[in-house]
Amino acid sequence: MAVAWTKHRFSGGLLVLDTTNTVVLRGDPARMFDRFEDTAEIARFASAAEGFRSAELGGRRLSFQASEAAAGRVVALREAADRLFRAAAAEGSVQTGELPELLRACAACLDGSAERIGPDGLPSGDPSQPIRFEAALAVSALALLADRAWEKVRICPNCNWLFVDRSRNASRLWCDMSVCGNRSKAKRHYERRKVAEKEAVDA
Ligand SMILES: [Zn+2]
Repeated sequence: MAVAWTKHRFSGGLLVLDTTNTVVLRGDPARMFDRFEDTAEIARFASAAEGFRSAELGGRRLSFQASEAAAGRVVALREAADRLFRAAAAEGSVQTGELPELLRACAACLDGSAERIGPDGLPSGDPSQPIRFEAALAVSALALLADRAWEKVRICPNCNWLFVDRSRNASRLWCDMSVCGNRSKAKRHYERRKVAEKEAVDA
């Protein structure tokens, strides 16, 4: 069934993190699944990202020429980015040993790209031309690596997604308060009720 690429699925706040979050429930082998398993979803994801990541893309459109090789490059970058930024969020530092794989994946995605990056770090090419999704993804990953931007990457304690915390006091806990925050609140409420019922029985 086709994925509905809703706002919630772009809770990462950056193209590269939204892409890492196309694997759902990472770290839970029994339940995790990959929304890019059907490679047709990559183009649909890119098309939705044009709207949700419009600021990061400088309003440019994205194009994705679907092929097995192109899907392989996207997934390789996604997995290298997830490993590196997840470890950076958990440990507060970047492991240099994780860099070659991410940089190689970025190089593969940027091969033959004619894009330019402006002083604001955004793609600055011809606004009437779409950016190749692979190139935009690599630019997003490299921007997150630069200037310690990765310091703001967090891991959602409910769903394990990665997101960038832009809150003023760096206190954002959930990828999406309306989904994971509420689920957690509901769970706490349920547990409190169970304890209360047990106490009532024991009394
Ligand atoms: Zn979450």
